[in-house]
Amino acid sequence: MTGPGSVCARCPKLLGASCCEVKPGEHLATLTRADVARIRDHLRRAAHTFVDEEVLSDAEVRDYEARRPLYRGYFRRGPVRWTLRQHDGACVFHDRARGCVLPVEVRPLACRLYPFEQFPDGSWSVQMGRHGDIAAAQRAGGACLAVEEATDMDEVLAAFGTTRDEVERLGAELAEAVSEHGRGRER
Ligand code: SF4
Ligand code: SF4
Repeated sequence: MTGPGSVCARCPKLLGASCCEVKPGEHLATLTRADVARIRDHLRRAAHTFVDEEVLSDAEVRDYEARRPLYRGYFRRGPVRWTLRQHDGACVFHDRARGCVLPVEVRPLACRLYPFEQFPDGSWSVQMGRHGDIAAAQRAGGACLAVEEATDMDEVLAAFGTTRDEVERLGAELAEAVSEHGRGRER
């Protein structure tokens, strides 16, 4: 959900980094074939300039899909996860002053869904725990300011100007894109 909206604009200053920045060894959002085609067509730029590949073991593939129902079938063609390329500790599309430089409708679906996630039991929540204390969240890393400032799920949704229905609609779109990705069909 990252962008120039108020909570995401304040996040790097208060928490030290946004979700578009990573520590060494960390990876960014998972991309589907449809995400890559949409970004490539928008930027008229070769996919290899913004896509990295992570090779997973069989156990990691099983664990990934077990924990993330929206991604079931992603690895049908092989144990390779496509993810956003990094530069200088952040996504190649991250601008420290402006946030994500891609228009919202062009961004990877995983980025548009973040921090919301569907869990193996089908319920929806946020991907990270809430520290309830900004200093503790900053020390721990990996926190989300919208989650820290909210007291319940409705307040997190409101911070991003979205609704449960819209989040679930994006989730269904992602599951369909993952299914197409696993089948290896171009869109
Ligand atoms: S594509 Fe945009 S929203 Fe997604 S990680 Fe990169 S900068 Fe952040
Ligand atoms: S971690 Fe949360 S508040 Fe911070 S930039 Fe990402 S989505 Fe926005």
